Amino acid sequence: MKLENIISSLPGYTKSILSALNSAGYEAYLVGGAVRDLLLGLTPDDYDITTNAHPEQVLALCQKYNWQTVDKLGHNFGCVIIVINGIPTEVTTFRGERYGDSDMHRPEATWYCTRLRDDLSRRDFTVNAMALAADGTLYDYFGGQQDLENKILRTVGKAEQRYHEDALRMLRACRFVAQLGFTYVQDGSAALPPFGQQSTPYYLPHNYCFPIERISGLSLERVRKEIERLLLSKHAGHGLMLMMATGILGCSCRVRDRGQDTSVPLLPEAAHLVGLPQNPRFHLYDTWEHTLLAIDNSPRELAIRWALVLHDLGKGLPNIRRLNKEGQPSDPGHEAESAVMAKAILTRLRYPRDFVQLVVWLVAQHMRFAPMLWTKERTLLRWVRSEATSAGFKNEQELAQAYELLVEVFLADMGATHARENPQLMADGRELGRQVTELARTKMPVCTKDLAISGRELLSLIPQTKIKDTLAYLLERVQSGNLPNTSVELLQAVTKHLKRYQQEKELPS
Ligand code: ATP
Ligand code: MG
Repeated sequence: MKLENIISSLPGYTKSILSALNSAGYEAYLVGGAVRDLLLGLTPDDYDITTNAHPEQVLALCQKYNWQTVDKLGHNFGCVIIVINGIPTEVTTFRGERYGDSDMHRPEATWYCTRLRDDLSRRDFTVNAMALAADGTLYDYFGGQQDLENKILRTVGKAEQRYHEDALRMLRACRFVAQLGFTYVQDGSAALPPFGQQSTPYYLPHNYCFPIERISGLSLERVRKEIERLLLSKHAGHGLMLMMATGILGCSCRVRDRGQDTSVPLLPEAAHLVGLPQNPRFHLYDTWEHTLLAIDNSPRELAIRWALVLHDLGKGLPNIRRLNKEGQPSDPGHEAESAVMAKAILTRLRYPRDFVQLVVWLVAQHMRFAPMLWTKERTLLRWVRSEATSAGFKNEQELAQAYELLVEVFLADMGATHARENPQLMADGRELGRQVTELARTKMPVCTKDLAISGRELLSLIPQTKIKDTLAYLLERVQSGNLPNTSVELLQAVTKHLKRYQQEKELPS
């Protein structure tokens, strides 16, 4: 898009703020992620503004125009949040920062500065360090526009120093690679080779230098947020590859528990997957490449993405790996091992218990479809019934949702193997997925509340004391697949059951 067109496409509230500042004699620019996204033809999530006006001068303008401001964060580092029509815009005074050794994220000093260039130079990546004025002039001192064109992510200034100042930038680098699909380049180094090729080496080129030991000073909350944003991105596989290649996945961050700092490892358990061979009868890639490809194949949903990150962790472990009759590697039971590891990992990353349970279930179950696909033997009902009765799902809806996610995990996993070259097999997989979700959604109540009849409706037929047992009896029959879950059928079944019960009572003993 041309710069003039970009300016005219800006939301009214952004234009108003820029124009108010300019009319009062201040410099004001759109800056950071908004400029990057607009130049890429994307719609920014938010529009940040940078100005040489000081916060009290910005606040005075807000008063004049009757704009609301948010106070709490407002004065932090010269940032005023202006709210127009319910939409907040951060207006930040040009500032400089100095970092020390002790804090691995926050600057030890910040001050206002007068030149736009100085403010832009403190920003992390060239593509995030451009400013756009209301007259359409683009200020790009560090080659951001060229890097956008070449799809390159590069720090402003020396990477190692910028990461040493603020360790979070290393995670942001991986996240932006995942979001933008750009190649990470450091200080003129060769780019990492494209992933997804059998020969892809996962090594760290010599001149990549990430001071990863400083990640230990970052809080789990910040790190997890970056990892989640990465995982939910279109090119998550690329981002994870960079996390692995730089050693970030093997690092620990910190969490504060009852006043004490605890070190929390991110994902060192994945290291052995890099280069780990798999049975070439099914697989095109090593286990880590397969994992990355499966992730990129899958819908952008956190439980699915985490399940895929973790689904093959058990592969290659000494207690799992075997050589089959043809002398090829195989990992029987890896899904159970991966599930145990997944539970430990997600729990230490402080995910809520329900989320952990769901992801662990997805990991544990991800191999269940494959045998049915190969043998064509349909054991879906037995399987879904056993999950409905023993896997701890609260109700039918929860079970159905879990199966919907599992189907996505299964298809993404399958699509990252030789099966991707076999459209019939992929279609069979999708059909199997359709059948299982339909079964879970419509034919597999988990508890008596899921039945199409309530205890109250049965009161006219049977005494209160028998209601619970009767519902349990109906539930078991529906789950076994020999009674449809409709009120008519359930009522009939109760009537029949009652009759038989009466007859049995009347039989002479
Ligand atoms: P997104 O909003 O999608 O995360 P963004 O680029 O807008 O992307 P923000 O975190 O909103 O990122 O930050 C806004 C801008 O502030 C960035 O574009 C960058 O210029 C600068 N910035 C943010 N965090 C850092 C950091 N840790 N170090 C240096 N500059 C940063
Ligand atoms: Mg932003």
